[in-house]
Amino acid sequence: MVEIVKGDITELQVDAIVNAANQTLLGGGGVDGAIHRAAGPRLKAECAMAAGCPTGSAKLTEGYDLPARFVIHAVGPVWHGGGQGEDELLASCYRAAMRLAEEHRIDTIAFPCISTGVYHFPFERACGIALSEIFRALDEGSRIRQVYCVCFSEEDFDTYQRILSTFGQ
Ligand code: ADP
Repeated sequence: MVEIVKGDITELQVDAIVNAANQTLLGGGGVDGAIHRAAGPRLKAECAMAAGCPTGSAKLTEGYDLPARFVIHAVGPVWHGGGQGEDELLASCYRAAMRLAEEHRIDTIAFPCISTGVYHFPFERACGIALSEIFRALDEGSRIRQVYCVCFSEEDFDTYQRILSTFGQ
């Protein structure tokens, strides 16, 4: 049901991939840049019409040239030391992404580790929040069959696996 995988999220054949977007939704570096490159210019055009997205929220677009049918653009918080509501904002964007996935009758979804790149959220802490919210959404009765948590590096993959094992999985 929940699986950690190593690789490039843009290559996954799933119903939706989640983007670690910024508030403008107009593209950036990291996974955001990779998703926009792989999806082609029509993604940027649709994002431009969405007029941004607040931190802790998410918006859904088509996937265009991606293998995935949809992209869910979730805006995680920038890490400022933990005293500015970062944990709750990160949890909120996972909840928003899972809610959108339900609404669009998505069966399979892949998440990157939101906020852990240029936004500097501590990796293990982010994994724990991600898994708590993913399992909570699944436990609440979901049609989502498969959730992939995608790591770009071997080291991140090992860490994420270890955190998953603390959830009894
Ligand atoms: P943020 O601004 O939310 O921190 P980043 O894109 O900088 O977003 O990083 C989020 C996470 O996505 C990081 O753990 C980074 O290693 C990972 N990442 C970057 N490119 C890809 C990709 N193509 N597929 C999967 N994960 C990626």
